[in-house]
Parts: sequence; structure tokens; C-alpha cells
Amino acid sequence: MKDETILNHDTYKDQHGAVVPPLYQNSLFTFDSWDDIDKAFDDKSENFLYSRLLNPTVRVAEEKIAQICHGEKAKLCASGIAAVTSAILHCVKAGDHIITIKNIYGPTNTFINNYLHNKLNITATFVDGRDVQEFQDAIQDNTTLIYLESPASLTFELQDLQAVAAIAKKYNIKTAIDNTWASPLYQRPLDLGIDIEIHSVSKYIGGHSDVVAGVVVGSKTIVDEIILAEHELLGAKMAPFEGWLITRSLRTLAIRMRAHQENAFHIAKYLESHSMIKRVFWPGLPSFEQYELGQKQMTGYTGLMSFELATKDISKIKAFVNALQLFKLGVSWGGHDSLVYAPVISYLKELSPDQFAAFGINESIIRISVGLEAHEDLIIDLDRALEECI
Ligand SMILES: *Cc1c(COP(=O)(O)O)cnc(C)c1O
Repeated sequence: MKDETILNHDTYKDQHGAVVPPLYQNSLFTFDSWDDIDKAFDDKSENFLYSRLLNPTVRVAEEKIAQICHGEKAKLCASGIAAVTSAILHCVKAGDHIITIKNIYGPTNTFINNYLHNKLNITATFVDGRDVQEFQDAIQDNTTLIYLESPASLTFELQDLQAVAAIAKKYNIKTAIDNTWASPLYQRPLDLGIDIEIHSVSKYIGGHSDVVAGVVVGSKTIVDEIILAEHELLGAKMAPFEGWLITRSLRTLAIRMRAHQENAFHIAKYLESHSMIKRVFWPGLPSFEQYELGQKQMTGYTGLMSFELATKDISKIKAFVNALQLFKLGVSWGGHDSLVYAPVISYLKELSPDQFAAFGINESIIRISVGLEAHEDLIIDLDRALEECI
């Protein structure tokens, strides 16, 4: 079946014929007999016992996500970062070594660099993900995980997923990827040899800016191990209502992604041609440094992009951001609503100016999430606000 059919046709059968799978707002499940509950315990990850482990409403969404990702199984989590930390903890033990990329999502960086280092003596090498050789060179005897994010969500560098997965397999190292930017539809890492795919469901899968959630996808063996360890013991479970909302969101994922892509393409072209814009970071532009690799491993592009204003005058940069009306100022991305954010606002609260520069960014970099409004109106909004920079 094609993605649109998987997302919109339910194999779930409700006893009353309700067209939408019902919301099972219950913590536990009861059994007719000793033998029945005894049997349920034989496979805790597949039988309905307790909603921390498995809930029928949440499972409807999990089955659809697993199918569109070409994975055997998916587990929804309370947040994207719960999915990230569950997947990483699954792959490492005390004293291990992780290879990841320099521009990894901030909280993931903090988890690896501070939390795992301080609590479990885990070390990490942060490589320039554009260069496959850097992964190979960073491998140590105790390397157990290569953790990717392609495209990365600030300046959008890509990693060659197939090449990195092949190196990892040779050394028996697990691979995981944060695939949030591409969405499950525009990049299929599991088909390219990656072991674990992670999404912040708060972004495109949720799509309506009304849910914080995450998901891990992979083989049944890996996902079952995560369910019975990190998921059950650290309590990263998803609430039933969240699961119900996500099934609602999945109905329109394919058409939303097409609309995000089309809007983003118009806006990236517009920004690229504007004299007050120095650079645009968006993998869908033919001028993008790694455009060829993107074409090879992705089947589409999404609505999050960055650009560098051609001014270093912070008062003008602030005036530009404040003048935007359709692009609302806020963190997160991937919803129906267009958003703007300037990394300098929060990054310099946690990083030294040198660390900030090491990300390859500066105070003139602006990130926008292109939503589902008409691109003509979004361009008028940008055009008016860019007057403030001149
Ligand atoms: C938002 C985000 C996360 C974390 O997801 P939450 O749902 O906010 O916990 C992880 N990775 C990327 C790339 C993100 O943008």
C-alpha cells in the first residue's frame, strides 16, 4: 500500500463500527482468569496489561508510523527527547564511546556531552558529518553508537546515510538517526541500513502545534528491547489522548508535507534573490552545498530553513524579527503555523561566543519554519520586514 492509504485506512475494527479508532483512556486492562493474565505476561510488549507499556489508542498510531518508516515496530514516547535518550541508552553502557555530529540538536548534545559523560563515563567524538572519512577515523575499540541527524536542524548539513551505515556494520556499531527534519515520508533511513529512526513527533508528524511527543522505529528486536528497558523503566510513555491526536495528524501527513515543501521552495527562492540575504540554508535549493547527496537519499524537502541577513547590526536584526506578522516568534517548528527564531537569543545564554561560532553560525542567522499559509502572503510579510534591515 502507498503511504496515503496506510495513513488513512484503518485495519483497527471497532465493535460499534466507529470510523475513528476510540480513545481508550484507561491505565490497566482486566482479565477473565488467572490463566489469561498469566499468558499476557509472557509478552508484555505485545499484550494489553498496563498503559505504561501498551495502549490500544497509542498502538493505532504506532502501527501506521512503523509502516511508513518501513520498520517492523514503532514505540511512541512522551517527547522527542524521550525517544532520543531511550534510543541512545539502548545502544550504550558505562565507559562506551559515541560518534555524533558537531551540529547535533542542542539537548541531544547536552545529554551526550554532559549527562552521559558525568553519570556513565561515556565519551563522544563530534565530527563534521559531511565527511564520511571523519566517522571512520573516529572509531575506537569502545565505540558502540554512531548517532546522526541529517539534515541537521540549524544549518542543514547532511550525512551520507548509506556510507555511514556500511562503515558502522563493518565494526558492529549501532546507528541511530534523528530524522525529524525530513519527516518519515521524505527520507527512509531504515532502508539505507540505519538501525534506529527517531522523530520528534512534536514537529511534522503532529503538525498542528498541539502535541509534544516522540517515536523510535526499527526492528522488532530492537524496539522490544527499548520498550522493556528504557520505556518501561524510565516511564517515557505516551498518554492515550496524545496517541489519538497523532492518528488524527497522520491522516494529513502526506498532503501537509507536499504543501510545506511547495511553500518552502517559493520562499527559499525568494530569499535567495533578495539583496539583504547573504546565504540561504535549505537542502532543496540547487545551490545548496550538498544538493546532490540530498537528491540521492531524500525524496523531498520540508519547511524548516535558515538564512543569514546581510547585516551585523543587532538593532536591525531585531527590528526585522519584530516586524514579521505572519511568522510568529517562537521555538519549535513543523506545525501549520509559520514561525521565526534567532538562535543567538538562546545559544549565547548557554555557550561561550567561541562555542557559538563553532556551530558555524553567527548573530545574523535567522531560522524560519514555513507553515501552511499561502506562500504569497508569507513573502509579502518577509518583504515588508526586510525593509527594516536596509
Ligand atoms: C524538537 C526536536 C527534538 C526534541 O523533541 P521534543 O518533542 O521537543 O522533545 C529532537 N530533535 C530535533 C531535531 C528537534 O527539532
